[in-house]
Amino acid sequence: MPQPELSTLFQLLPIGAYRSAPDGTLLRANAALLALNGYTREVDMCTDLGPGAKDPYVDPKRRAEFRALLKKSGQVVNFVSEMVRLNTGERMWVREHAHVVFNDDGTPRYFEGTVEDITEERRAKTLLHQREAMLNNVLRTIPDRIWLKDTHGVYITCNEAFAANLGVSVAEVVGTNDVQWLGQELAEVFLATDRLAIQANKPVILEEDMPSPLATAPGLYEVVKTPMRDDAGNIIGILGMGRDILQRKAAEALLRDTTEQLELAIMGADLGRWDHDLTIDKGYYMDERSCLMLGRDVRECEHGRAWGHLIHPDDLPNTLKAMRAHLNGSAPAYEVDYRARHTDGRWVWLSSRGKVVQFDRNGAAQRMVGTLMDISGRKQAESQLRATQAELQATLNALPDLLFEFTLDGHYRAVHSHNEGDMVFPPPFVMNKVVTEVLPMDAANTFLAALQEAHAQGRSSGKQYSLELTAGKQWFELSVVRKPTEPGEEQRFIAIARDVTERKITEEAIQHLAFHDSLTGLPNRRLLSERLQGALLASNRHRQYGALMFLDLDKFKQLNDTHGHDVGDLMLQEVARRLQQNIRAVDTVARLGGDEFVVLIQSLSTDAQDAHMHASTVGHKILSSLNEPYALGGLEHSSTPSIGIALFSGDTVAAPDVLKRADSAMYQAKAKGRNTLYFYKPNMASAPVDTAQAAT
Ligand code: GH3
Ligand code: MG
Repeated sequence: MPQPELSTLFQLLPIGAYRSAPDGTLLRANAALLALNGYTREVDMCTDLGPGAKDPYVDPKRRAEFRALLKKSGQVVNFVSEMVRLNTGERMWVREHAHVVFNDDGTPRYFEGTVEDITEERRAKTLLHQREAMLNNVLRTIPDRIWLKDTHGVYITCNEAFAANLGVSVAEVVGTNDVQWLGQELAEVFLATDRLAIQANKPVILEEDMPSPLATAPGLYEVVKTPMRDDAGNIIGILGMGRDILQRKAAEALLRDTTEQLELAIMGADLGRWDHDLTIDKGYYMDERSCLMLGRDVRECEHGRAWGHLIHPDDLPNTLKAMRAHLNGSAPAYEVDYRARHTDGRWVWLSSRGKVVQFDRNGAAQRMVGTLMDISGRKQAESQLRATQAELQATLNALPDLLFEFTLDGHYRAVHSHNEGDMVFPPPFVMNKVVTEVLPMDAANTFLAALQEAHAQGRSSGKQYSLELTAGKQWFELSVVRKPTEPGEEQRFIAIARDVTERKITEEAIQHLAFHDSLTGLPNRRLLSERLQGALLASNRHRQYGALMFLDLDKFKQLNDTHGHDVGDLMLQEVARRLQQNIRAVDTVARLGGDEFVVLIQSLSTDAQDAHMHASTVGHKILSSLNEPYALGGLEHSSTPSIGIALFSGDTVAAPDVLKRADSAMYQAKAKGRNTLYFYKPNMASAPVDTAQAAT
């Protein structure tokens, strides 16, 4: 048993302490060790570290190493490992010391040890190392010379730039003093300035010639000397930092020269000069060049005449205001543009810049000097530019079209639109996007094709695209030109999109009229013959039979005669409707005129018999459909058609001939008593056979 005071000490230890059995079973743990492992009760930790306990080491090899050391020498010192806090599972870094307490017979009785959480210590050390490394890198990289001397002038450390000046390494500098490198006399000068910094108790800035054993001429340095103190506040040395200012000095000298030469520059730059003595009346002097700007004689100027009466009355208030602003200190310089009267009567734009260069004892301005520049050319160019811009803007405003600027690959670079309804997206949205992101594919491709054409040929015109906009489907026509560019500039294209919807609608209407029958809306003879030609080609290609049916209403004239033309029209419209109902979408119903209709049926079959059968079926379907009673504006009416059918397979006859054949077959049907269908046969004219009688 530990003695009571020892037991108290054990509990009070600021680091974890334990005693365990030779088999590793924990017997005692102090409060610090319990806290370290997240326990409040000793019994819990002892249970967890009882027989068959879990290994608290993160690296499983560590436990064996610990035991091997303990066994070998009876003690373990400074054993650092990563461990798991037993009750919380968190990781920590610990430092362990342990020893074995032996029995009298030399066998192990206990293991005793301490465990210290050094997680924070390690983290701080790592950070410190990182900072040191960083500082070293900074010191190495910095072109300035840096050194640290103790109060006796002995170098504690320095950077490479400093050592290099002495032609040695950093290690060779440490421990030496300036006497060794520069001699007694200079060393004392430097030591004196070090003391200056210590006395001042703050950084001092000096200019020092820093000689080098390597260079013949000493370099000129701006040196900052900072007293360094320990934690107790005692001065322990001087940190020096020297920056080469030879170049800066050279630049400053150059600047002085330049200022002197400004005089010459003014002469060269077509500037006039003025000098205003504010202490006397009419103390305003101008040089010859200033006078010439207004066509005046230099002698006139030498008389010190005031200039004010020459300034345009509209510009005078502004000029005086600028002068006052500078004289009262609110503007750092006097700067103003004004018009002045030339002797030839015109107004000349002048730009005047000046500054007070002399004050009296009370701070009142005594003398101003300045320059004058004739800026008429610039002003004229500016006003021309403004006019051109206004003109351009007015033109754009008057232009009803959409105007775009594009790159070759279709990026919007500028958009001008009067009517947002003309665009799928508002202009700000499309800027810098690609046309393919903005427009549907067809329209976007039209733009891209036009851009390519303009790229190849300088311009593109006439390409059209349509968009579904808020007002419905709108058509646009594109005109694109390549923009002249400077070398190296991005290739740009100006595109104008003109709304051609109205024209398109008219065109489409004309187109429709040209190919359709106005009463029924069905394709007319022209469109039919186009379709028939197409059908013949297709049938030839696919070796498939098609059929052309020619229909003529029976006794249609009578309806017209009895009930009027309008009722006849209604009848024709109804027939058109029924015919369309009885065919597939690929087939065509056309009205040739009068009471004549044609039905074109494609892709019947590759076999003639089959095709015949199919055509006959469709023909009978139509026949019975047209036999149904008609309600024509209140009038009950019955009617029948006569139908002639000509089969074709493309390779045999031309389109007009197919139509003629169907027509003559229809006449055969009429001849056979009407309300019937009749197939064309080559020898039909002499001896018509194969009459398919109506189903009725
Ligand atoms: P058939 O059985 O021999 O065919 O006798 P039909 O009376 O039908 O004679 P036909 O086919 O020769 O006459 C066609 C008539 O269709 C002639 C004309 O009065 C009429 N017609 C032609 N075009 C129109 C039209 O646009 N509207 C109306 N209502 N009638 C038309
Ligand atoms: Mg008829």
